Amino acid sequence: MELNDYQSKCLNTWHGDQRLIRSFLGVCGEAGELSERIKKHLRGDYDVQELKSRSFKEIGDVLYYIAVLAHELGFELSDIAEDNIAKLAKRQEEGKIKGDGDHR
Ligand SMILES: [Mg+2]
Repeated sequence: MELNDYQSKCLNTWHGDQRLIRSFLGVCGEAGELSERIKKHLRGDYDVQELKSRSFKEIGDVLYYIAVLAHELGFELSDIAEDNIAKLAKRQEEGKIKGDGDHR
């Protein structure tokens, strides 16, 4: 599935008011749920296979909110993905893949 098609399909179920803040909080909440899966794996509650299985839908939930947040900010998901890949490729080319900060 193409990213913009996915984003468009996400918007079919995206309703209500205060959409920008709700989409942002949705990203945070679902990322938290994913973190919880990883925490429980590290604590020994899950083996790797169960971590994978429990994380699959949570990653989808994060992706959903990323897609609607991008829309609320006026971006197409494919533009964000292409920009991000170009940024990473440039950093790798310059030997700056490690470290932090957006402007390396
Ligand atoms: Mg979830």
